[in-house]
Formats: sequence, C-alpha cells, structure tokens
Amino acid sequence: MSDLEHFIQNKMSMSHIYQPVMIKKLLTSLGKAHKTEIAQEILTYDSSQVEYYEKVTNNMVGRVLRSHHIVEKEKNHYILKDFEVLSPEEVAKSIKLCEAKIEEFTEKRGVAMWEHRRKNRKAISGSIRYEVLKRALGRCELCGISKEEKALEVDHIIPKNLGGEDSINNYQALCYTCNANKRDTDNTDFRELEDLYNMKDSTCIFCSVNFEKVFENNLAIAFLDKYPVTNLHTLIIPKRHCSTFFDLTQAELNATYSLAQKVKEQIIAKDSSVGGFNIGFNAEEAAGQTVNHCHMHIIPRRKGDVENPIGGIRNIIPGKGQY
Ligand code: 5GP
Ligand code: ZN
Repeated sequence: MSDLEHFIQNKMSMSHIYQPVMIKKLLTSLGKAHKTEIAQEILTYDSSQVEYYEKVTNNMVGRVLRSHHIVEKEKNHYILKDFEVLSPEEVAKSIKLCEAKIEEFTEKRGVAMWEHRRKNRKAISGSIRYEVLKRALGRCELCGISKEEKALEVDHIIPKNLGGEDSINNYQALCYTCNANKRDTDNTDFRELEDLYNMKDSTCIFCSVNFEKVFENNLAIAFLDKYPVTNLHTLIIPKRHCSTFFDLTQAELNATYSLAQKVKEQIIAKDSSVGGFNIGFNAEEAAGQTVNHCHMHIIPRRKGDVENPIGGIRNIIPGKGQY
C-alpha cells in the first residue's frame, strides 16, 4: 500500500471534506494544482454558495430580466423568450455581446465588484470568529442549522453602516442562507433597529438616572443594586428601554451575557466568601417585577447566608423550595 493510500484510508482525520477534495484535485491534475484551482474544486461541493446565487438569480437578476420581458419563469426554470426563433448566428452574436459586456464591466470595476461578499470575512479575525461560532454552539443563530450542514458566517447584528460596532457583542453566527436573506432586508429592518436601540423612557428610573456603572458595553450596563439582598447584588440592564427579558434582542442578550461574566469574575475576585450566585429576571408585576425596565439580577451567595439555601430561586414561592 502506498503512503498516500495509507494516509487516506487510515490516518486522515476529517473535520470537513477539504482534505480528500484537495488530494483528489492534485491526483487529477498530474500532481500539481494552483491554490485557486483547489479552491474552485472545493466550491463545486459547497451547495451553500450555489444557494446564495440561486437567491441572487431569483430576487435580483431574474426579477429584472423578467420585468424587461427578456425571460420568463416556469417553476424553478428560466426561459429565454423567443429563443426558438433565433438563428444560430444570432445566438452566437448575442453570446459574444454578453461576453463583451462582462469583460467591459470587469475591467472597469475589477475585484471591487465582489467587495460586498468579501467584507464580512476579511474584517473579522480568526480568533473572534472562533469565539462567535463557539458561543453559537456551531449553529446558525437564526435557523439553527449546524456548521456541518451549512457554512457559517460571522455577521454584524447591527450593520456597520448603521453604527454597529466591531465587537463580539455585535456579532452573530449565521448560515449562508440566513445571511443572504438578511442582506435583502437591510434597508427595512435595520433602520428600525437603530431607532430601537436608542429608545428611552423619560419616566423610567433606569433610563434616566445616572448610575455609577460597574461595567458597560455597547448595549448594556451593570451597576450595583441600591437595595441589595446580599452584598454586591448587581443589576444588568439593556441601555434601551424595554420592560422584560422577552423583549431583548439577540444583540442585547449577548451584551447582557458578556457583562454577567465580567460581573461574576469581579465579584469572586473581590470577595472570597462568595460561593455561588442566583441569576434571574423578574418579568411582569405578577412575577414581582417592580422596575419596568428589564434587568438581570446577579445575587452573590455565601455559605450560611440563609439557614437552608436548597431550591435557590425556586423559593420565590414560599415553602415550595423543598421537594
Ligand atoms: P425588580 O423587583 O423589578 O426585579 O427589581 C428592581 C431592583 O431595582 C431592586 O432590586 C431594587 O433594589 C433596585 N432598584 C430600585 N431603584 C433603584 C435605584 O434607584 N438604583 C439602583 N441602583 N437600584 C434600584
Ligand atoms: Zn427604562
């Protein structure tokens, strides 16, 4: 058995199809291939790329050509109108005209015409990308598909051109299809989002009071509770006014979660008697919420702080914490 055969059969540990595709490409190219040729070969297996261009075909180019009555659509096929009446010479001439147009445009715009597809992947470093995918547990944060089934991209939740930050709180993992769909809705959804994130309620104490902040990031603030139930009881709120946990956007959840981690680290560094935490949201009056601006309670717990801690937050219904 050759070393290569042995490698392929016994040693190649695969996290994707890349290795066998690359080896196959080299084998079918007399042992040598340019990186672009290898990349193109990988591309032939990546249906997510094709899906992206299917969307472009349907939503953009197909629509335009249909509106000019150049093509018709029949289920998933496009049909060039009056093709059957074209002579072979006319077909050849039209192909040449298309090629000339492609060439002319490519010369004028160069690689810049693909910049909108490159932007995302270039701007975000490998380690941050890794963190985002890890946080998303390797799944698209919109449709839930796994990274094994579809390539995942790191997306700016609030787009950069609307002031979205280059920060991990503003990133989410999206599959190719969800990201492509999102681009289509750019202008409608995200202007609303921008207004949304600036929303304040002038009658709300958490919106208007200037607290001494423990931590802050793009969308959330952590500060000490004025009437702590235990020492260092901390609250984390979204900067935007909204009333409950269920109103938080994915970006605000990310921002809140990341402050929660920092608060926890700081509390255990400050106070070695802290042995655990109760973390929670009261949502609505019926559940005991007294301030109508969503807030996460981070309540440090110490051994012996109550006689019997069993049940923790389950003791919100008195007497029911034990089972
Ligand atoms: P809720 O009952 O709505 O879940 O919690 C409201 C929390 O806000 C309480 O823990 C209360 O102590 C805290 N709180 C109320 N007013 C103020 C304030 O003016 N400043 C701070 N830092 N915390 C407050
Ligand atoms: Zn508020």
